[in-house]
Amino acid sequence: MSKKSDRAYRKWKESMRPKKEPKYFDVSDVQRAEFNLEPLKCRKCGSTKNVVYLQYVGDAQCEKCGAWQGEYTKAGHKRKKLRDMA
Ligand SMILES: [Zn+2]
Repeated sequence: MSKKSDRAYRKWKESMRPKKEPKYFDVSDVQRAEFNLEPLKCRKCGSTKNVVYLQYVGDAQCEKCGAWQGEYTKAGHKRKKLRDMA
C-alpha cells in the first residue's frame, strides 16, 4: 500500500469511528431543547465545569469568568454594544 492511500484509509477509518471526545453543549442548545443539558461550555473562557443554566433567567452563567452566555451570541453582542452606546 502506498503512503498516500494508507493515509486516506486511516482517514476513512477515523471517520467511521464514533467520536470519543465528550460533547459539550452551548446555551443555545439548552434554550432549544427547553431542558437542562450538561456539560455546558462557556463561550468566553471555554470552561466546561462551571456553566450553570438558570431556568428562570433563560440564560446560563459561567461561575468561573462570570460571563452570561447570552451576551456572547452575535445578537447579544449587538445588544450589549447598543446598551453601552446609549
Ligand atoms: Zn467562563
